[in-house]
Parts: sequence; structure tokens; C-alpha cells
Amino acid sequence: MEEHVEEKPTPSPAEISQGLSKIRARRWFFFGVVLIYVPALLIVLKVSQSGKLTLSLFGLWVFVLIIAVVLAAIVRCPRCKEYYHTNGPTFLPVRKCVHCGLFVNADKQKKAPKTDTP
Ligand SMILES: [Zn+2]
Repeated sequence: MEEHVEEKPTPSPAEISQGLSKIRARRWFFFGVVLIYVPALLIVLKVSQSGKLTLSLFGLWVFVLIIAVVLAAIVRCPRCKEYYHTNGPTFLPVRKCVHCGLFVNADKQKKAPKTDTP
């Protein structure tokens, strides 16, 4: 009777690809929320001329940002099954797994011809 097997089975390329696309989606969401802040704030300030609305939108943005950080922080690496962006208390939105170094585009790198030729 075997219990608590520590050995991690090697995931298939399909599982890796699936896991990485999930990670990429959450990264896009996170960086999107971060990047939308300045233009959104400038637009709101220009349109509304009201500090009150700006303040409530800022509050909303902070709320969405927290969700984006949590979603990005709890996404797991498809290879080592650890938190992809989180090492202990540190959240690092880097382009590779902070535990095993699996690159965020690892499933795309095998056959990636450069299409953007000048
Ligand atoms: Zn990993």
C-alpha cells in the first residue's frame, strides 16, 4: 500500500502547453490591469474633472488589481506544480517559473519561425 508518493510524474507536452496558456492569460490580465491604470486615470480626469469619481475609480482599480495579483500568484506551474510566480512570500511576475525555470513560452519555442521580417 503506497501513500503520499513524492515523485512527480512528468507531464505531457499537452499538459505543459495547457498550463502555460493559463499562466499567459493571467499574466496578460495582470499586466493589462497595471498598464490600463495611467491612461484610464488621465481619461477620467479629463472627462469628469471630478476628484470624487476619480477616487472611486481608483478604488475599483485597486480592487481589480488585487484580484489580478491573486490570480497570477496562485497559478501553478504545469511542470513542477509549484506556484509559478510565487516563491514563499514573494510575488515575482517574471517570464519563467521561479521554482523550476520553465519558460512562459516554452511550448511555443520548439517551432517558432520569425515572421516579423523587415
Ligand atoms: Zn515550475
